[in-house]
Amino acid sequence: MIKLHNKIFEPYISAEEIQKSIAKMASKMYDLKNDFPHFIVVLNGSFFFAADLFKQLDFDAEISFIKLQSYEGTNSTGKVNELIGLQANITNRMVVVLEDIVDTGITLEKIYSILESKKPKQIQIATLLFKPSAFQKNLDIHYIGKEITNEFVVGYGLDYKELGRTLPQIYKLKNNS
Ligand code: 5GP
Repeated sequence: MIKLHNKIFEPYISAEEIQKSIAKMASKMYDLKNDFPHFIVVLNGSFFFAADLFKQLDFDAEISFIKLQSYEGTNSTGKVNELIGLQANITNRMVVVLEDIVDTGITLEKIYSILESKKPKQIQIATLLFKPSAFQKNLDIHYIGKEITNEFVVGYGLDYKELGRTLPQIYKLKNNS
């Protein structure tokens, strides 16, 4: 168990299991090798995932970063702010978005609308974690590392009010904490 601010979290997904999920995603992405895909990392939470995935990709790819924010503490605000916009030119490119976690899908909807306006050849979404019971949208997600129940998680890049990001494994909020 660990304590972050006033909340208690318990171990949930081991570092080894995370790496296995990423290896599976990387091998599925091998089909993209002739496209010289452009990966877009959604900051902050996805930077661990992006780094580990890139180490396992067996082909060349471009990478750039955007920063969005929808969460305050342990809850979605329902609004998404674009804090760092996309600088790269993705017109006619195969684009793969790297997300740490898809929850309600509100952020994903915003990402699709930002990227579609730039006329890429295709947009694919890869998320390390997916909460199917929280998802409210009808949007395609092409690669899912692991489906989880509707719990608040931290670690491996994900934070609770800026704590917990550096943990190598994923923890979940303990009931009633
Ligand atoms: P959505 O817009 O799908 O509701 O939420 C997407 C974003 O909310 C994620 O990229 C992440 O930043 C944050 N988020 C959603 N669920 C969790 C969670 O369980 N833990 C943490 N730390 N952030 C989350």
